[in-house]
Amino acid sequence: MTDLDPDEYTVEELSDELETIDDEDVLQSVLEAEQAGQDRQTAREAVHKRLEAVESGDGVEGDTETEGEYEETKESVGEEAEGEEVDEVEPDEQADESAEDQAEPDDGLSHPTRDKKHVRGLEDGHYEDMWVFCETQQGELLEVSKEMLGKARELMDQFAEDYEDEERVVAFLMGDDCEGLAEECIAYGADVAVYHDDDRLERFLHKPYTEISAHMARGEGSTESTDWRDYDKPRYVLFPATNNGRDLSAKVQAELDSGLASDCSDLFIEENEVSNPVKTGEPGVKKTFQKVLHMKRPDFSGFEYSTILCLDNPGREFHPQGASVIPGSFEPMEPDHDRDGLVVEHEMELPEEWFRVEITEYDQLEAGVDLTGHEVIVCLGRGIADDPTKGMELGLDLVEAFENAELGITRGIVTSSYEFDGHVEEYSKEVRQIGETGQVVAPDLYIAAGVSGAVQHKVGMDESDTIVSVNTDPSARIRDFSDYFVEGDLFEVLPEITEAVESGEIALEAVADGSGGDDE
Ligand SMILES: Cc1cc2nc3c(=O)[nH]c(=O)nc-3n(C[C@H](O)[C@H](O)[C@H](O)COP(=O)(O)OP(=O)(O)OC[C@H]3O[C@@H](n4cnc5c(N)ncnc54)[C@H](O)[C@@H]3O)c2cc1C
Repeated sequence: MTDLDPDEYTVEELSDELETIDDEDVLQSVLEAEQAGQDRQTAREAVHKRLEAVESGDGVEGDTETEGEYEETKESVGEEAEGEEVDEVEPDEQADESAEDQAEPDDGLSHPTRDKKHVRGLEDGHYEDMWVFCETQQGELLEVSKEMLGKARELMDQFAEDYEDEERVVAFLMGDDCEGLAEECIAYGADVAVYHDDDRLERFLHKPYTEISAHMARGEGSTESTDWRDYDKPRYVLFPATNNGRDLSAKVQAELDSGLASDCSDLFIEENEVSNPVKTGEPGVKKTFQKVLHMKRPDFSGFEYSTILCLDNPGREFHPQGASVIPGSFEPMEPDHDRDGLVVEHEMELPEEWFRVEITEYDQLEAGVDLTGHEVIVCLGRGIADDPTKGMELGLDLVEAFENAELGITRGIVTSSYEFDGHVEEYSKEVRQIGETGQVVAPDLYIAAGVSGAVQHKVGMDESDTIVSVNTDPSARIRDFSDYFVEGDLFEVLPEITEAVESGEIALEAVADGSGGDDE
C-alpha cells in the first residue's frame, strides 16, 4: 500500500510526511505499520488526526494549515535551510496578499513585523569553540572582557581534558584601531582574536555591532585567514551583561537563531540527560546531550539560582549556546604577553545607513557621586524600612564620624517607595547605588547595615578589605562574605558604632587589620 515505513521517522518528521498523503487507504496502512512496529501513541494520534482531516475534506488540497505551509516553505528554501537568511511568507500573510494588493499603501506601521526575517536553525550543523565578545571603552578592554576570557580559558581547558578534543577560545571585538586590543585578548586567554576596525565603530552602535558579530560568527568575512575555522557557527558564546552587552547579546543570538541566558554568574560544561519530548522527539524516551553549557543565573532578587540549558530540538539546532555574564563573576587570568595566538582582521562592507546617527559632540556627564577612593563606605539597605529617614540619618552620622567616608545604598532602596524627608532624600538616589548596575567600590572598611547580600550587590563591594555587616537575620547571605557580622537592629547598632568611632574606642586601622573586635 505504501513505501512509507514509520519506523524510519521521528513523530515530528512523520507528522510532516503525513501532510503530503491524501489517500485514506495509504494512511490506514501507515497506521498498521506503526502498530506493528514501535506503536508510539503520539505517532498513532498523528495518523488519526490526518485521517480525520482527509475524511472531512480539511487539510487536503488548498489547505492553509500552518504546518503544511511550513513544510512547503522548508522544501522550497532548499540550501537556505542550511542556515542562510530566508524571507518567509507567513501563512496569514499569503492569504491576505490579494486583498492587500487593493488595500491602502503600507505605512510600515500597521504590520510592524511584516518584514521580519527568519533565520532557520541548522540541522546537523558543525559547531566548535567558545566565542567571547570583548567590549571595549575608550581604547581599553573592559575588565569584564578579561574576566570572561579567563573563565572561557578555564572551561575550554577542562573541555579538552574531558572530551580529549581541543577547541578554542575566540575573542571577537570591534572598534576604532583595536588590533592592539585583539592582541591583548590573546594575553588574557584567547587562542584566536577576530577584530573589525572602523573609525565609525568607536562607540557602540547596535546595528553595525550586531551585523558584524553575526557575520563573524557565521564565518564570513575573515579574509586574512580563512583556514582557521571550518565550522558553521560557534558552539558557545559569551557576552558581558553590561548595558551594551545586554543589547548586543539579545540581537546577535536572535540573528543566529539561538537562545540566550542573561545575567549569568557561573558557567560549566557537562552532559545532560532529559526526557522532555520536545527535546527527545518521543515521549517516554531519555536522551543525553553532550557538551552542554550550564548557565547559572540569580533569580528571585538573587536568592535562588536557575540553571539554563540551550538544547537542540529534533530537526532544529540551537547554537551558539549563549550567555551574558555579570561583571565581577569571574577572575581574569594573569596576562601572559608571550602567549601564542592568532589575530584575524575581519572585513565586511558596512553600509552608510547603519551610521545614520552621527555623534558630532559629546560631553562627560557630571560624575554625580563618586563612591570610589574613600577609606570607608557605609551602605544602607532595606533594613531601614521601619523608619527610612531615621535610618538614613543614622547612616550619615556614622559617615561623619570617619575622616574619609561616603554613604552608599543598595538597589533595594533605589527601587523602594520609601518616603524620605527632604533633608535626606538626595541620599536615596541611584547615583549612590553599589553593585552590578551601580558603582563598584573597594574601600578599607565597608559597613553594610540592613543589607541582605544579593549577588548583584556583592559584586560591587566584595573586594573591600574589611566588611562589617549589621543584620537582624543571622542567616542573611551577607554573613558568608563578611569579616565581622553584628546580629542586631541597625537602629540600635549604628548609633553605638558611631559613638565608638567618635570616642576613639574603635579606630579604622584596628578594624581593618583584624583586631577590631569579635566576629559576633
Ligand atoms: C539585573 C539586576 C541588577 C541588580 N543590580 C543591583 C545592584 O547594582 N545593587 C544592588 O544592591 N542590588 C541590585 N539588584 C537587586 C538585588 O538583587 C537585591 O534585590 C537588592 O540588593 C536587595 O537590597 P537590600 O539588601 O537592601 O534588601 P533586602 O534583600 O530586602 O534585604 C534587607 C535586609 O535587611 C535586614 N533587616 C531588616 N530589618 C533590619 C534592621 N532593623 N536592622 C538590621 N537589618 C535588618 C533583613 O534581614 C535583610 O537581610 C539587581 C537585581 C537585578 C535583577
